[in-house]
Amino acid sequence: MARSPNSPTLRLLSRSVRSRRARLSAAVALALLAAASGIVAPLLIAQMVSAIGDERTNLTAVVVQLVVCVLAGAFAGGWSSYLLSSVGERAIEDVRLSVVRHAIRLRVPVIDRIGVGEIVSRIGPDAAQLRAITDTGVTVLPVSAILVAAYLTIMGLLDWVMLAITVGTFAVASIAIRAFLIGMRKAAQSQQMALGRLAQSAQSVFAMISTVKAYNAEDRAVEPLKEEAAAAAASAIQAARAQAAISPLMGLGQQVAIIGVLAVGGIRLSSGSLDVASFIAFLVYLFQLVNPLMTLAQGAGRIQVGRAAATRVDEVLGAEAEQLEDGEAPTVADQAPALRFCEVDVDYGDKQVLEQVSLEVPRSGVLAVVGPSGAGKSTLLNLVERFAEPSSGHVELLGTALDAWPIARARRRMALVEQGRTVLNMSIRQNLALGRRDEPTDEQLVDALRAVGLEEAVSTLQAGLDAVLGQGVQMSGGEEQRLAIARALLTDAEILLLDEPSAHMDGINESRFVDLLTRLGRDRAVVVVTHRPSTVAAARSIAVMEAGRVTAVGDHKTLLATCPTYQALVRSQGEVDETSAMVPQMAG
Ligand code: ADP
Repeated sequence: MARSPNSPTLRLLSRSVRSRRARLSAAVALALLAAASGIVAPLLIAQMVSAIGDERTNLTAVVVQLVVCVLAGAFAGGWSSYLLSSVGERAIEDVRLSVVRHAIRLRVPVIDRIGVGEIVSRIGPDAAQLRAITDTGVTVLPVSAILVAAYLTIMGLLDWVMLAITVGTFAVASIAIRAFLIGMRKAAQSQQMALGRLAQSAQSVFAMISTVKAYNAEDRAVEPLKEEAAAAAASAIQAARAQAAISPLMGLGQQVAIIGVLAVGGIRLSSGSLDVASFIAFLVYLFQLVNPLMTLAQGAGRIQVGRAAATRVDEVLGAEAEQLEDGEAPTVADQAPALRFCEVDVDYGDKQVLEQVSLEVPRSGVLAVVGPSGAGKSTLLNLVERFAEPSSGHVELLGTALDAWPIARARRRMALVEQGRTVLNMSIRQNLALGRRDEPTDEQLVDALRAVGLEEAVSTLQAGLDAVLGQGVQMSGGEEQRLAIARALLTDAEILLLDEPSAHMDGINESRFVDLLTRLGRDRAVVVVTHRPSTVAAARSIAVMEAGRVTAVGDHKTLLATCPTYQALVRSQGEVDETSAMVPQMAG
């Protein structure tokens, strides 16, 4: 089997195939049996020819042997190919699971860089292409090579002059075929790349399907996909052209060999240096030889396609993943703040999105982060979750630099409620239990749902907590966000990170939410990124961000008196009485 120590995909494939040694050995043994039948059959045919009219030989016995040989060969060939397919498919399953497990552990910027559609295409079609390597590399190529060697040896024993003609013509044909094989690999590579880009574009279009439809933009949205589809087709056609050249070239080689062999064989027959039976046997081998030769040539082509796919899967398997194994948690001093940002800069490429941010989040109370959109508020949360890394400065969690924390342990200390959709296509129960290491009881789940005002909505569902979201059960944006908050409540996190949590909530839910924030802030740190004055009302302290900087920190009254940006933000919302409404509701 084609192996490359540098390719994690090929290593994985090889390990997986070898772990199914018994099936694999049976497949190889049966393939050899089928090959042996192919070798013996012409000899039996030659015997049969000699037996006709020769009373000393038992013709019936030879015919029976021939039939048994051909049937056994066909049966062994079929069985071998079934066994081989099952080994191959299991190996692909192993690769797919490894890719999924690895991809889900990749760092968020790496996933963004590769693209979700691209990752999905490595798990789907690219992994499927690896079958070419398991099937072809493991048995088909070695068995064909053995067969070719055996045929050539026997043909050499029958008549070495005719063998020389045969080898000569096929050698010329194979030089030409080699050139096409190189073209096939390149074409396969570009086809797979185009298909990956197509999957990526399609994924991004369907993720935004409502917007596309709302603007009647179906045709416009399909436009970029057309280009990728055309590129995939062009490469596939190029590969097909190379593939199509292989059979005729081999056929041509065979024709030339047959003509040469017939001419030379005729001369040798008439001179008496060759008998008729040997001549016929040689011709039958010559006809048969083309099959394994063709298999070798096409198999080599398929291997090129498989290797191109392996290179693409390698890109995911070889990318740096997060170390999520539990390490030792740093000791936490009682007086350490929940979070401390120390002169943090963050760059995305050339763009600096955070600049010298210093901010402290106490162990309890609500800290609201406000500021115009694009100011860097979400980036602040991304830093804490380690979805982004500072280019300079550092962030401390409970008194210890974040990068000294084992990632999983750090994340367990906090619960994140993201902006937008955060509900997975699984049951409400599974959605709620996402952050738990144990199975929460129904009572705990219902308590959490009650806290966010979802208890009644869930109890009216026929399947209740086991209703699967996305399968007939759809939640509104606000309900999804409340479910995400309930999920956060079910963890024992001492830091709650909320990104625009009330964006989809109506007035009633929002006032309930503000009460909830206030209660939560009593015994844990709550960082809430928000535009909403009513949410800011629950905050003990407010950080104002502008263009990547924290420009002011203080309570509502102080900021209103001293910070023009804050004044403008409050005024632009205009929902809250600027002097009084927030103060009585502040977290205690
Ligand atoms: P806010 O939450 O205040 O609206 P963000 O923190 O989301 O702002 O974004 C701050 C800036 O960083 C924006 O200009 C945004 O375009 C940029 N940005 C955010 N995420 C990325 C990313 N993954 N790659 C490049 N730029 C990004």
